[in-house]
Amino acid sequence: MKKLTIVVPALNEEAVLPTTIQRLIRIEQKLIKKYPLDPQSNILIVDDGSSDQTWNIIKQAHQTQPVCELKFSRNFGHQNALVAGMKTASQTADLVVTIDADLQDDPEKIAEMLKQFFQGAEIVLGVRNNRDTDQWFKRTSSNCFYKLLNLIGVKLIPNHADFRLMSKRAVLAFLAYQERNLFIRGLIPLLGFKTAKVYYRRTPRLAGQSKYPLAKMLAFAWDGITSFSIAPVKIILFFGGLASFLGIVMFLYSLITKLLGLTIHGWSSLMISIWVLGGLQMLSLGILGEYLGKITLEVKHRPRYLIEAYLK
Ligand code: UDP
Ligand code: MG
Repeated sequence: MKKLTIVVPALNEEAVLPTTIQRLIRIEQKLIKKYPLDPQSNILIVDDGSSDQTWNIIKQAHQTQPVCELKFSRNFGHQNALVAGMKTASQTADLVVTIDADLQDDPEKIAEMLKQFFQGAEIVLGVRNNRDTDQWFKRTSSNCFYKLLNLIGVKLIPNHADFRLMSKRAVLAFLAYQERNLFIRGLIPLLGFKTAKVYYRRTPRLAGQSKYPLAKMLAFAWDGITSFSIAPVKIILFFGGLASFLGIVMFLYSLITKLLGLTIHGWSSLMISIWVLGGLQMLSLGILGEYLGKITLEVKHRPRYLIEAYLK
């Protein structure tokens, strides 16, 4: 008998949470009948510092249903909520499924994930096969993002976000990655283990607003790039080398023209070089600064989240 815990991160999800809890419990009960699952299988909701009724809704569900919950002392972000949920779940569960609270990821597909698990997969990734619920901008930018990451050598599974099943062993392996700049979907392929995919249709949010406005989404993408690749620094190095070489050529050129008495008062060329090189330098410093900043954050070893309450 394997115990399944479904981990649900939630930030201000009062509009959907009651439905989500009912739906997940119903699905889990069906699964318990169909697969060799522990009847104690449950749901773990992580309240990521919500300011609405989210916590009250969970507390109420806890009294009558197999629902456990963690409450963060403030908002620590979606990725940290997932880590906390997986860590807590792995103390008692044999397998963990993570799914968003808004049910955009089809919870019915958990059955297929379980099937793959019982056939030997330790990680089963939910991969969406449509993007029509996204607006043109999100679709295009996300496409570019996956292509860019691939180009600089980060292996991501396109259209897989944080809907996945993991065995306890895979979760423990994942928890050994201690970095603070979290981009979970980038770490999963690094784990190895037998991995399978389940395709699903992503639907619009059941209710409520997206908790990922554009600025947060871009910050997340930037973390994905700079936490997994030092390609930007290498590009800087390349351009730095090129600029230095051009600098030497320019130096020789000016020297020779001066010696030959062909003094050219090239105002424009001077301006261009100052601006181009100045720009490149500032850009380079900015990118280097980003990596330095990341190092600063990592060496502090701050806790990734703080728990205010835990209802078992
Ligand atoms: N979420 C969270 N903390 C945050 C932001 C989001 O726990 O700081 C949760 C949110 O409640 C939801 C999931 O993460 O369950 C995904 O967020 P959302 O659906 O708003 O993102 P989108 O699907 O719009 O990208
Ligand atoms: Mg969503």
